[in-house]
Amino acid sequence: MAENIPHVLILGGGFGGLSAANEIRSALTSSKVEITVIDKKDWFMVGFAKLWIMNGTRTFENSIGSLQKLKEKGINFLKEEILQIDLQGKKVKTSSQTISYDFLIIAMGAVLAPEKIPGLVENGMNLYDHNQLTDIHNKLLKIKSGVIALAITSMPYKCPPAPFEASLLVSSLLRNLGTRDSVQVHVYSPAPITLPAAGPQVSQQILDLINSENIIFHDSCKIKSVEKNKLVFENSQANFDLLLAVPPHTAPKTVHESGLTKDGNFIPISRDCKTAFDNVYAVGDVTNLTVGEKMAVPKAGIFAEGEGLAVAQNIIAKIQDKEDSALFEGQGGCYIESGRETASIIEVDMFSKPQPITKLTESTREHLSEKKQFEKDRISKWL
Ligand SMILES: Cc1cc2nc3c(=O)[nH]c(=O)nc-3n(C[C@H](O)[C@H](O)[C@H](O)COP(=O)(O)OP(=O)(O)OC[C@H]3O[C@@H](n4cnc5c(N)ncnc54)[C@H](O)[C@@H]3O)c2cc1C
Repeated sequence: MAENIPHVLILGGGFGGLSAANEIRSALTSSKVEITVIDKKDWFMVGFAKLWIMNGTRTFENSIGSLQKLKEKGINFLKEEILQIDLQGKKVKTSSQTISYDFLIIAMGAVLAPEKIPGLVENGMNLYDHNQLTDIHNKLLKIKSGVIALAITSMPYKCPPAPFEASLLVSSLLRNLGTRDSVQVHVYSPAPITLPAAGPQVSQQILDLINSENIIFHDSCKIKSVEKNKLVFENSQANFDLLLAVPPHTAPKTVHESGLTKDGNFIPISRDCKTAFDNVYAVGDVTNLTVGEKMAVPKAGIFAEGEGLAVAQNIIAKIQDKEDSALFEGQGGCYIESGRETASIIEVDMFSKPQPITKLTESTREHLSEKKQFEKDRISKWL
């Protein structure tokens, strides 16, 4: 690393890491700041593209952007596993080297942990794992009758509306295949309503939307284990022929070991995304940002991006000897496709007073086009 030039090290090349890296680089040249992004994989994909791969309208290859392209913008990129974060020594150990930093942004996302539910790995498919999407698609093509269960196994999980959107897209695919009338689609959740973070009104609208497609929602179903063709809840059980599960989410092991989290939880932050360590920030799914007594900012790319921007602005200010007072704005939305060539947006304003505001828009073709544009914009701006 060049001497006297501050080094911003960014752990994770997802929404949070890429938005921060690009914002800092667009404000400061390489003579003012060195930026390095580390990720174990060398591609980025917008989370919702996974559901397009599941329903067969996309392939993995045409849904990704290459992180190697960061180098063309004067941002170093290392495709390596992050093994240790040494906050006292201000350095990070990877599979091949130890790297020092002046500013650290932890943007490592949430880890999917299906192994936490006994029997899930053996008897179900992981809806959020990009490696399983083609298999899921092939199983959806083959199923001619029976029961498909979509199961949320624990909270919190990425993009709260995604499992409901997945059920609508599954239903749409089966309808196109001519098998929908002989295949039941059920959604199970441990929560009492579809989207607790969005409140009862939006939850009812989501329920009405899935019910209108004959998808059955089962609330308050906490999964204890999965057996062959059987979900076992605390007080009951349900049969399935194909299980598409949203597995439990945890913070990465390296983050637990750094001392930033307790009891395997996510990193607690407030709107400035600072941690207890000087010049160390955390953004996105790896964090827990509570709002009031009962709510937390949902795990969503749009919020990881917003947090990345706030952190970038504060780091730029510090490098320029200005006041670092930027706060995460907390506004954004998640798309929910109907499976009938339209989409609605769940619009959120997390820090509105006296309480967060969540609204569901109408489902229109225009919103579906916006969703497709959202993906294009991120990939072309960041990579
Ligand atoms: C099906 C689905 C639909 C979704 N729809 C939406 C939507 O409509 N709108 C929305 O806003 N969000 C949506 N999301 C959620 C969104 O994808 C995530 O919230 C977002 O990716 C979080 O960004 P992040 O930067 O915190 O983490 P990530 O994007 O997960 O990035 C973390 C990065 O860190 C890397 N990493 C982790 N550990 C290590 C390690 N030890 N060594 C090296 N690298 C490491 C990972 O490889 C990864 O690239 C959806 C998600 C899914 C699964």
